Amino acid sequence: MNDEALYVTRDDEYGNVGSAIIQDKRPDILAAGIAVGFVGSNKEKVVSRNHVVFGECKKVDEIYKLYCPYDFLIIIYEANCTGFTEEQMKTLIWHELNHIGIDDKGKAYKRTHDVEEFDDIIREYGMHWNR
Ligand SMILES: [Zn+2]
Repeated sequence: MNDEALYVTRDDEYGNVGSAIIQDKRPDILAAGIAVGFVGSNKEKVVSRNHVVFGECKKVDEIYKLYCPYDFLIIIYEANCTGFTEEQMKTLIWHELNHIGIDDKGKAYKRTHDVEEFDDIIREYGMHWNR
């Protein structure tokens, strides 16, 4: 399998950014042969009043792999990212790639966030007040 094939995307722009980030910051994804597809969506995804979704990382179920040649799909909700700088978009894509975890046996899984906290708490006590 050549490296190009790992990054064939439905959205080449995100795919190119994602490919560069994988090589720079997550070479373990490359080494494990995990295929990541990138999709742009104009859906305005909202979880709650103060929680707009910028992007999402979905692990592809085994049965869907019969038709979808990727292990994970990263979806960028473009309508919610209007006005993002190039740097913010790169950070978003890196964030989504960090949802790809690889266990001791080399098996991929969907990783959850290291930190979930309120702005006020972070401002006053820092990100790691509980560690
Ligand atoms: Zn996340």
